Amino acid sequence: MTGIIIFGSAGRMGRAVYEALVSSGAHLAGVDQPDIDNNPRRDPPPRVPLEQLARGGGDVIIDFTSPDVLEENLWAAQVAKKPIVIGTTGLTDSHHAMIDRAARSIPVLWSANMSLGVNLLAALVKDAASRLSVEWDIEILEMHHRHKVDAPSGTALMLGDAAAAGRGIDLDSAKVTVRDGITGERQYGDIGFATLRGGSVAGDHQVIFAAEGERLELGHRAEGRVIFARGAVRAAQWLVGKEPGRYTMAQVLGL
Ligand code: NAD
Repeated sequence: MTGIIIFGSAGRMGRAVYEALVSSGAHLAGVDQPDIDNNPRRDPPPRVPLEQLARGGGDVIIDFTSPDVLEENLWAAQVAKKPIVIGTTGLTDSHHAMIDRAARSIPVLWSANMSLGVNLLAALVKDAASRLSVEWDIEILEMHHRHKVDAPSGTALMLGDAAAAGRGIDLDSAKVTVRDGITGERQYGDIGFATLRGGSVAGDHQVIFAAEGERLELGHRAEGRVIFARGAVRAAQWLVGKEPGRYTMAQVLGL
C-alpha cells in the first residue's frame, strides 16, 4: 500500500486528498499541518519541518500549497529522495526551472489539473486547434470560487498551451489576458482569456472556437475538488519507482 505524505494538508486540496485516500488503496503517511480535521482558515496549525516529515515514513509526496514554498518543498523531497506530485498553480518560468532541476534527481509530476476530464479536454482542444484555421478565434473562459488567488487559472493556461500547441505556436506569443477600455479589434491568432470569480465554484472551463457564422465549444465543469484529489493520488501511486525525471498527467492517464 503506497504511503502518501501531504504538503498543504490543512488547505482545501490537502483535505480533499486526505478524503480521496479512503477508497484509493493508499494510506496517509504524514501531513505538514497536523490537525487535519480542524478548519484550516480560522486556525492554521503549525507546520512540521518538511525535511523531517519527508525523511520519515511514506513513499511519495503530494503538494498543494503555494508558489512561495515550492523551492522548500522540492528541497525536502530531494533530501528525502522521494517522488513528488505538485498541483500548485500560479507558477512562473523560474518555478518551472526549479522543477526541472529537481527532476534530475527525483521523479516529479506537476500538473495544473489532475482530473481525467480536463486532461482529455486538453487533448481535444489541441486536436481541434490543429484542424481549424486562424479564422477560428480561440477564447478561454474560466470561473472559480472567490478564494482563488491566481488568474487566469492554471487549467485555463494549460488549455491555452494545448490550443497553441495545436497551432504550432508558443502561447506567450498569442495570449491576451486583459481587455479593458478601447482595445482595438481582435487580431487573428490571438488566444483570449476571461476570468470569473465567485461563490464556491470548484472550476469551470470553456474553450470557444468562434468563426464567421458558427462556434465550437468544448468545456468541463468540476463539481467538487475530489476529482483533482483522486487524480493526484493516482499520479502519486504511478510515480513510485519511476526513474528521476519530469512526468505529466497525460502519461499517468495514458492519453
Ligand atoms: P488553500 O489556500 O486552501 O491551501 C494551501 C495550503 O498550503 C494551506 O494548508 C496553507 O497553510 C499552505 N501554505 C500556503 N502558503 C504557504 C506558505 N508560504 N508556507 C507554508 N504553508 C503554506 O489552497 P487550495 O485551494 O488547497 O489550493 C492550493 C493550490 O492548488 C493552489 O495553487 C490551487 O490553484 C491549486 N489547485 C490545483 C489543482 C490541480 O488539479 N492541480 C486543483 C485545485 C487547486
